[in-house]
Amino acid sequence: MNKKLFVISGCSGVGKGTVLKEFMNRNSEHFILSVSCTTRKPRAGEIDGVNYFFITREEFEKAVQEDKFLEHAEFAGNLYGTKKKFIKQKFEEGLNIILEIETQGALQVKKKMPEAVLIFIAPPSFEELEHRLRGRNTEDEQTIQTRLHEVKIELERSKQYDYIVINDNLERAINEVEKITRNELEG
Ligand code: ADP
Ligand code: 5GP
Repeated sequence: MNKKLFVISGCSGVGKGTVLKEFMNRNSEHFILSVSCTTRKPRAGEIDGVNYFFITREEFEKAVQEDKFLEHAEFAGNLYGTKKKFIKQKFEEGLNIILEIETQGALQVKKKMPEAVLIFIAPPSFEELEHRLRGRNTEDEQTIQTRLHEVKIELERSKQYDYIVINDNLERAINEVEKITRNELEG
């Protein structure tokens, strides 16, 4: 059976990391979560090579020039990108791949790989999103403001996605993502 690439996006704090962590706990046999490169500084507890490959802006720009990225984008002052080599290797290992990336990168993927499936995780409301982002306690006020500013832009781009999943109830949202992936792989 052909392996598929799923792209998951959603505003900062919407809960995509939480949804994906549980999705992977249940589906790790057939799926791999892609590890991106970023110039962002690691948060407490984040591990290089596990959460991200943490690299310098110089290293990132060199990789862009050498055409090493399937997609890349700047988000809230930091660079993020998916290495082509990572994707190729994981497909060769027979796995379906999940990219957890922001919307500019997702639309680049859709252009290069129209068969990729784009899923957008949306918040029940803007107020709830702000509450979750603040409740996570990982960003300073300036960063929270920058990320909230991106919300409108991301919601606008989500119109080009294949599916929109509202993360109101966590269990329901995880089940919906599972249903979408199952249908796409069987269909
Ligand atoms: P993202 O990866 O989208 O930036 P996180 O997964 O870090 O977001 O989630 C942000 C916060 O929201 C976390 O504290 C998480 O526990 C909480 N959260 C996630 N999903 C839900 C939900 N369905 N209901 C309430 N809180 C949630
Ligand atoms: P964070 O800093 O919270 O880990 O991520 C910020 C945003 O960057 C999130 O929307 C996340 O999905 C996105 N992101 C993470 N990795 C990549 C990537 O490789 N490419 C792109 N385009 N976005 C990414």
